[in-house]
Amino acid sequence: MLNIVLFGPPGAGKGTQSAKLIETYQLVHLSTGDLLRSEIAGGTELGLKAKGLMDAGLLVPDEVVIGMIDNKLAQNPTAKGFIFDGFPRTIPQAQALDSLLTNRGTGISAMIALEVEEKELISRLLIRGQSSGRTDDQNEELIENRVKEYNTKTAPVASFYKEQNKYFSVYGIGEIEEIFSNLCAIMDKLK
Ligand code: ADP
Repeated sequence: MLNIVLFGPPGAGKGTQSAKLIETYQLVHLSTGDLLRSEIAGGTELGLKAKGLMDAGLLVPDEVVIGMIDNKLAQNPTAKGFIFDGFPRTIPQAQALDSLLTNRGTGISAMIALEVEEKELISRLLIRGQSSGRTDDQNEELIENRVKEYNTKTAPVASFYKEQNKYFSVYGIGEIEEIFSNLCAIMDKLK
């Protein structure tokens, strides 16, 4: 299997590039942000609990997202591989993902990080907020909270994969197609 963690701060372009990658490599896209937003749209109990945290720019509890990923892995037993987008966002999530995959006889092939400077992120998210309707993209203070959560809790996850020699990075500013072809160059070496 080809199991990729697509990594990077909010606004780095993970969603855009994931959509292209799953098509080219026939992988299943698992975005915890999308899964949480569909729980909210469905008015589920989980969604109600997550909404307050998401709207404040804070992470939802590890066990919630780990449970969602476990379910999705179970629902896709014949997948050729997965693109994990927005997950793992903490070290305990990364450890849990390793054991979920080990139990299924597989593992993470690589983490690929999209590198984008903070100033660019904030302006991208504010622009996205004007059309996406995402409540967490509407104001600068909230966006800064998310970047802060990223810097304190999520950025250390890169070291987890560096220690396993599974870390790669791609510069995330430029043409979408150019960034995509840099990602593909890494993916093709992993296959
Ligand atoms: P972005 O990367 O653009 O910030 P996402 O769509 O990945 O947005 O996530 C939106 C929100 O959902 C996060 O700010 C957080 O509250 C919650 N969330 C998503 N994935 C996770 C996760 N793995 N762990 C904890 N919270 C998460």
